[in-house]
This record gives sequence, structure tokens and C-alpha cells, in this order.
Amino acid sequence: MIVFDRVSKRYGSLPVLHDINLDVAAGEVISLIGPSGSGKSTLLRCVNHLERIEQGSITVDGELIGYRRDGNFAYELSERQIARQRARIGMVFQNFNLFGHKTALENVMEAPVHVLGIARREAEALAVELLARVGLADKMQNYPRMLSGGQQQRVAIARALAMKPKVLLFDEPTSALDPELVGEVLDVMRSLADEGLTMMVVTHEMSFAREVCNRIAFMQAGRIVELGAPSEIFNSAAFERTRSFMAKVH
Ligand code: ATP
Ligand code: MG
Repeated sequence: MIVFDRVSKRYGSLPVLHDINLDVAAGEVISLIGPSGSGKSTLLRCVNHLERIEQGSITVDGELIGYRRDGNFAYELSERQIARQRARIGMVFQNFNLFGHKTALENVMEAPVHVLGIARREAEALAVELLARVGLADKMQNYPRMLSGGQQQRVAIARALAMKPKVLLFDEPTSALDPELVGEVLDVMRSLADEGLTMMVVTHEMSFAREVCNRIAFMQAGRIVELGAPSEIFNSAAFERTRSFMAKVH
């Protein structure tokens, strides 16, 4: 469903991704773990072309992301074409990024109405259904400031789902939350995994990675150094070497 083929990326002269190969199957949940600065966020951001790649290709459901090929050349797509691709790739960030002046319901309705052109009545029915699904049936009229961090993040997940995404990308979705609110967000993500959504999740929640993910990609210095089932990764030598380091950093 998401295929990285020999993807490399630099920021200026700084190489951050080296020759990344990864094939995320439809319905699969992959966790990206690794030390700070290893390129996890960058890898996710490349999937919806928030970052340009220098080499290789990324396809989502068979569609080349960000570029159009013509013989040996690749031309970057127009803003409009990129926006069309992004519409089907859901992204949930650490800091929720909700519209502060809109209610939970309006936040979830926003993109279906303005990007997809769906009628308000239909978008509202969908938003009501999605907010109920993330456990917020009684908070639909609340503004973000009247919601806890965990509730705001669940609105953000409902908002991503409203676009009927082919894949969902999460970048440390629980890192900004108080510890007692982490579980409610992970529970929603767990139910999405059970429903068969294809997900890539950057996380420091090792219990989530262990219990929910099909595979874990362990990154170091811009490379995927280990890829496998949770039990394999947690027992790998490379992971052992950095486990204590990661525990200190996060
Ligand atoms: P963390 O766990 O701290 O979020 P990460 O694994 O997500 O780290 P990235 O944010 O992908 O790491 O960063 C990878 C490397 O690229 C780092 O060395 C970082 O400093 C650098 N980097 C990230 N964004 C930019 C940018 N916009 N311009 C220049 N360098 C950047
Ligand atoms: Mg990051």
C-alpha cells in the first residue's frame, strides 16, 4: 500500500534518509522507532510530500507521490495535484493542530466540505458518526480549548478519518499528552488497526508498538537498521544498544 523504493533525502548538505526500502501492506500497522534525529518524522513527511526526496520513489496504492515520470525524468506535480494526493493520506501530529475558533464538529467537517465539496448536511452526518466512534459524542459542540489534550487528539483522528484516507500517518500522537490521557488515544488507534486501516506510527509507546503493530522499523541515522515483528525487534542487538539511550531521551 505504501512502497518506499530506494528513497534518499538531504536537508541541504545534511543527508537524513539513506536508501530506504519499505513495503507497508494494505491493512498493516508499522511502528517507526529510533533515537531522536534518526529521520522518523522526515520519512513520514515524505509520504505526503511535505518533504521532497532526492532519489527513489514513494507510491501509495500504486500512485507515485509528488512526481510525474516522463522517461528518465521525474517532474514535481503542481500544488493542486499534490493537494489532491494529500487529501487521501491522513496525518495526525503531536500537537493536534485543530482550528481553535471551530467546534469539534466543525473541525471534522472542514475538509470534506472545503476540499471534497461534500454538502454540509452530509459532512455533518459523517462528522457526528466519526466523533461518536472516537468516543466524543457528548463533546461535539466544544471548542478545542474546552477539550483535554486526549480529546483534542481524538478530534484530530476523526478529522483525518473524515477524508476517507487510504493510509493514516501518526507522528508521536501521544507525546504531548499527560500520561493519564495517553491510553484513550492509543485505544482509538488500536480500534482503527483492528478495522484494517493501513497505518504508520512514529511512537515511543513501546507497549503500543509491541501489542498493536504487525511490524516495527527501527531507524538509526537515516537508515532502517532492523525491520521485523515486534518480538524480533525487541530482542535484537541493535535495539538493545539504543534502548537505554531512548529511554533517557524521551
Ligand atoms: P525526533 O525523535 O527528535 O522527532 P526524528 O527521528 O523524527 O527525531 P527528524 O525530525 O526526521 O528526526 O530529523 C532527522 C534529521 O534531519 C535531524 O538531524 C534533524 O536535525 C534534521 N532536520 C529535520 N528537519 C529539518 C529541516 N527542516 N531542515 C534541516 N534539517 C532538518
Ligand atoms: Mg520526529
